[in-house]
Amino acid sequence: MQIEMKFRYYDGDPGEFIKVIEDKCTGCGQCAKFCTTRVWEKVGKIYKPINLSNCVECGACWNVCMADAIDFGEPHGGTGVKFSYG
Ligand code: SF4
Ligand code: SF4
Repeated sequence: MQIEMKFRYYDGDPGEFIKVIEDKCTGCGQCAKFCTTRVWEKVGKIYKPINLSNCVECGACWNVCMADAIDFGEPHGGTGVKFSYG
């Protein structure tokens, strides 16, 4: 039997569970490069999670930020990417 996995995007209020610590952000853009859902945009010299409702909670941005400039909190929908089966 083959199991097909699909993303299920969080459809509630995403809150502000990803925040940039602005004085730590170097503007390297790695967060935007690795985010598959285009959450991140350049704002002045730094990047911010502008389109947070697109976030699938994969944690990639948080993992690739070498400046430790991302405060990754607990989303309202729980943590981790959400998959559905079927
Ligand atoms: S990866 Fe970190 S330091 Fe680089 S732009 Fe994104 S938040 Fe800023
Ligand atoms: S957790 Fe994943 S989907 Fe959400 S902003 Fe970071 S890289 Fe993008």
